[in-house]
Amino acid sequence: MTHFDTSGLQPAQDRLAEDGIDVVRLGYADLIGVDRGRDVLVNRFARTVSSGVAFCRSVFGTTPRGGVVDFDGGLSDGLPDVQAFPDVTTLLPVPWEPGVAHCIADVFNPDGTPAQESPRYVLRQLVEQFAELGLVPIVGPELEFYILEESAESASGWKRYGEGTGNVYTAGRKGDPENVLLDALRELGRYGIEVISANHEFSSGQFEINLWHGDALDAADRAHRFKDGVKELARRRGHLATFMPKPFNDEGGSGFHLHFSIVDADGANVFEDPTAEDGLSELARHAIGGLIAHAPAVAALNNPTVNSYKRFGPDTLAPWLIDWGLDNRSAMVRIPPERGSGTRLEMRLGDASANAYLAIASMLAAALLGIRNKIEPPEALVGYGYDPEKSEKLPQDLTEALDALEQDKELGDLLGEPFTKAFLAYKRDEVERFRTWITDWEFHEYTSHI
Ligand code: GLU
Ligand code: MG
Repeated sequence: MTHFDTSGLQPAQDRLAEDGIDVVRLGYADLIGVDRGRDVLVNRFARTVSSGVAFCRSVFGTTPRGGVVDFDGGLSDGLPDVQAFPDVTTLLPVPWEPGVAHCIADVFNPDGTPAQESPRYVLRQLVEQFAELGLVPIVGPELEFYILEESAESASGWKRYGEGTGNVYTAGRKGDPENVLLDALRELGRYGIEVISANHEFSSGQFEINLWHGDALDAADRAHRFKDGVKELARRRGHLATFMPKPFNDEGGSGFHLHFSIVDADGANVFEDPTAEDGLSELARHAIGGLIAHAPAVAALNNPTVNSYKRFGPDTLAPWLIDWGLDNRSAMVRIPPERGSGTRLEMRLGDASANAYLAIASMLAAALLGIRNKIEPPEALVGYGYDPEKSEKLPQDLTEALDALEQDKELGDLLGEPFTKAFLAYKRDEVERFRTWITDWEFHEYTSHI
């Protein structure tokens, strides 16, 4: 059985030859959004990929420390194979790696069924559910990150690049003394992933590059490649780019905001209703209602690390409460002021560590439940937020979010039970490893006084 659309292969190979490509980097996102894959010599591409490139299925559950977390079909089943089949429509030459083109793969079990824990598959399923309603979700990702440079003085071996205060919304050498951001913008622009603009973010050493919107799968593919690309470009300079949610105690966190609208089969924005007071359709209200109602479980996918919950808090520009508001940056869901074809919501919940496919899939799942169950949102937040008397708090730690995901059967079913189980097993392992690890905070707090 083959999942490879061989009709697209010859034109793709011809294009690769014209572009001087000799290696195809076949990649797919694991559970935490790391691009796993293999470099394939282009003259072996057709033969190698038409029957799939084999990987060990447990690669989806590899931890950053190299551990392998067990889930159904993994370790306890004897570490069986999966096969990655390229989606040749995604082939893109990598501008900073001459001769290399990146290609995103879909992953299947040897019996031809999809590997259900594959994040790209999870998102495909959600997009399919919207298609059944004649709807197409459109997503515009916004990712923040820090750039670090080596430092012998720092305990971690890294310090913030371009240290300086008050550089928010500046471009140029003041906050980017070596044009690291400018060069990254240009290289990523040449990559064809539709980056549009770059600026210094609020914190020292923190930057943002925006991606143009597109249909949900395309947006996730581009955001996934963006994160990998930013990290690769930093490594070329001996820097470290990190999408860790809150790497420093004295500076803010990095968000992964998602602009989200829905169009119908004719491309008309269905979030808009010019007759409504706030210009939002019933469907938009229900989508917001779904995001509010399912926020604790959605947080597990959008705030998926132990560190994620240190980004939340009052007066952070990150959310803290489960709320929404019209053009209000202190809310979890902001409705930007544009209407007409630009009518959309901005989910500000997610942090930069989220796997792009899973962040988007869980947002779509919650919105779909809101639409299906006609969930009305609470009153919109007015004025500066962060008042815990007015709205529920987001989960306070990863365990609370994972418990919410485990209990939210409706959302879990939309993501797929095998995926949800695998994700929970993977993340519970992370929490447990952290729980038993002695941190520097404990050492500094206790050693001299106790
Ligand atoms: N850094 C903030 C966050 O973690 C967002 C800042 C902004 O509004 O762009 O969500
Ligand atoms: Mg920002």
